Amino acid sequence: MKLNLDILPLSSWLNTGKEPLVISGPCSAETEEQTLSTAHLLAATGKVSVLRAGIWKPRTRPGEFEGIGSIGLQWLKRAKEETGLLTAVEVATAKHVEEALAAGVDILWIGARSTANPFTVQEIADALKGVDVPVLIKNPVNPDLSLWIGALERVNRAGIKKLAAIHRGFSSYEKTAFRNEPMWDLAIQLKTIAPDLPILNDPSHICGNRELIPYVMQKAVDLDMQGFIIESHIDPSVAWTDAKQQVTPAALAELIDHLNLRHADSNDPVFEDKLAHLRKEIDKLDDQVIKIVADRMKIVEKIGEYKRENGVTILQVNRWDEIIQKRQNLAKALNLDLDFTVKLMELIHNESIRKQNVIMNDKPVQEV
Ligand code: PEP
Ligand code: MN
Repeated sequence: MKLNLDILPLSSWLNTGKEPLVISGPCSAETEEQTLSTAHLLAATGKVSVLRAGIWKPRTRPGEFEGIGSIGLQWLKRAKEETGLLTAVEVATAKHVEEALAAGVDILWIGARSTANPFTVQEIADALKGVDVPVLIKNPVNPDLSLWIGALERVNRAGIKKLAAIHRGFSSYEKTAFRNEPMWDLAIQLKTIAPDLPILNDPSHICGNRELIPYVMQKAVDLDMQGFIIESHIDPSVAWTDAKQQVTPAALAELIDHLNLRHADSNDPVFEDKLAHLRKEIDKLDDQVIKIVADRMKIVEKIGEYKRENGVTILQVNRWDEIIQKRQNLAKALNLDLDFTVKLMELIHNESIRKQNVIMNDKPVQEV
């Protein structure tokens, strides 16, 4: 499936001449002084193109700081006048959109909580009709690619062609080192079905702490994401929101300096030649993998027929344990990741069981 989005290339609406594209600023605009001083330091790094700041903050619990409100828009306006940085704020209602546009905000973004709610997204999309402003859409809080796609479609159908996605990680029940699990495969899936849609990475909200940020940023670069939206505060230790994950402007500059930038394509013909050769090898091996899996399925069908004739159950746990054990031993010897090997075998085994189900019941058993 390919996503049908009517969008303009990022370079046509945000040509900063800087690589990677960096949007940075505090989680929340707290005071005029904090907003302006952070903006000046960020601009001075020469690495930041857009100043971000939350004005209306969606908080999990009431009573926490819920944003400074409309007055913050005036601080951003001043920051822009003084530094030349473009400005970006999160909008969650039609009123936010109107106020942000009236105050001359350059870029709007839709936060993760809003993306999770199609009513909210539609309200924002309706407010954007007839407006020419770039909109960035964060992934929804929950790992649901359709919600993310739905939000992109709603905003795009409202006529917004300057569109990009922000990967900020997903909430998961299991607690890991990340505040929000990156689940990179969801961002990759989005990239696969919408190859022209720019994707920015938000390492701050994925990590929830400063320590993991370099790892996540490098991974985003390696996956060919176009840039970052990253929180920066003049003094993170006293930040009113998300204190643990914000970095000083100086630390931000260092993070960017340490990135190992790679390119999707190279102009070196020797490299291209070698790459083409290696890709041919991969194609050959992939064909073999498919063929071998198909051969395996044929045998699986034969076994299914024997089992049916002899009234034996499809799943025999001992046999499955034996398969997994033997394959893991081989994988270990061949330096293959064990987790990966088990997942691969499970995938093949599930398909084998599905096939045998068809044979033994004459029709597929419905998934529940
Ligand atoms: C933010 O960018 O400060 C924010 C609230 O992010 P998210 O919507 O990703 O939680
Ligand atoms: Mn934040």
